[in-house]
Amino acid sequence: MTGETTTSLSPTARTGPTKASLLPLLDDAFAQLKVPSFIHVNLDAVALNVDILKGLSSPKTEIMGVVKGGAYGSGLLPVVEVLLEKGVRELAVATVAEGLYLRRHGINVPITILGNLVPCEVSDVTQHNLIPSLSWSQALMSVPRESLVYPDGSRLKVAINIDTGMSRYGVQPEDLPALVQDLDDLEVTILSMYTHFQSAITEREKNQKQLDLFLSASEPYKCRGITRHVAATTGCVQGLGTDLDFIRPGGAITGLCSGSDKEGTNQFAKKRFQPAFSVIARPTFYKLLGAGRHVGYDGTYTTSEDEWIANFSTGWSDGLSRRLSNGVGAVRRISTGERCPIVGRVSMDSITVRLPEQPLPDEVFQVLTDDYDEVTSAVGMARNLGGATYEIPGNWSTRLPRLYTRNGKIVKIYLSLQYTC
Ligand SMILES: *Cc1c(COP(=O)(O)O)cnc(C)c1O
Repeated sequence: MTGETTTSLSPTARTGPTKASLLPLLDDAFAQLKVPSFIHVNLDAVALNVDILKGLSSPKTEIMGVVKGGAYGSGLLPVVEVLLEKGVRELAVATVAEGLYLRRHGINVPITILGNLVPCEVSDVTQHNLIPSLSWSQALMSVPRESLVYPDGSRLKVAINIDTGMSRYGVQPEDLPALVQDLDDLEVTILSMYTHFQSAITEREKNQKQLDLFLSASEPYKCRGITRHVAATTGCVQGLGTDLDFIRPGGAITGLCSGSDKEGTNQFAKKRFQPAFSVIARPTFYKLLGAGRHVGYDGTYTTSEDEWIANFSTGWSDGLSRRLSNGVGAVRRISTGERCPIVGRVSMDSITVRLPEQPLPDEVFQVLTDDYDEVTSAVGMARNLGGATYEIPGNWSTRLPRLYTRNGKIVKIYLSLQYTC
């Protein structure tokens, strides 16, 4: 048993808006890249999303742009460039290595590391002016006190992560005074305090409770000029913590909804965010098969009539989950907006797709759409796969080339296998 369905799949379903206005640009991209499939990152979407985030937070609130995981798969440096251009003054990443990567590429703004600091990372952190997060003082205790300084001689700055209910990282609120005392004794500067919400967009009251706990735990330290931030993508959509010193969104920057449930997605999409990441492809081959043909590895799909079956050159090695086989996934035909189901198994390097008719020469399709479609978008795929929306672009590999556009023009190309994060 494979667990996959072999029932005949409805040939096509029509979906929402198409990307027809982008077609001349995409034709140009195919000509420049000389490949049949590529990733398109629309940096105009990033700029738009930053404006939306500004509109969701109070005027005095700054944005700390979370760009971990290669800006959620859209590409660290190109996304950071847009953020800085849009006036974002601080960044956050998960690991020290990501912070070092940004420093090596000339990014000089404050960078907070969201992961737990371990003692062996302290020298890289201080040498490169990074701001580590602490949940306990143990991370610094074994380090010689005189080394807790930046190259300019100033004391190490840290962010304190407070656990208000997520039960992942973070000091317990009742242990916060002791941690602050330890850090004062170490003469480390406490720059900020923050917490992270556990619950989904539709679970506002639960996150409200965390916010209340955070505000009361951090209140005694406000007078020290310690900045406070709480709202990641979910909080920004819920309007929780959007009037503190910073909002701290990641997914929303590239238009990704923090959850994949329908109601939360609707609330997110209503804010008019725009996904930046899509995958564009032209068929590499197609043929008309008669009824009774078994398609792909293990013949898990059987044609029920004459069917146009097309190959697209992208598969699970690129990041297209094998669990999208047999109609769980589909590609969008841009000219008509039709969804064309993936039939048979997703292979390592290619997929087989049932088209409603013979495609036109050079027809363009989207394997991953830049919207909130139920099947072809990141959020739709995540919902159907039982995964996280962020995983979908985040898991794409470096084998497909990447095309970056800004103001409707191609501004950057990473060739296949040349892209690092
Ligand atoms: C990843 C992360 C964020 C960003 O979350 P999004 O849901 O992507 O906006 C913010 N804060 C912390 C601590 C994180 O780990």
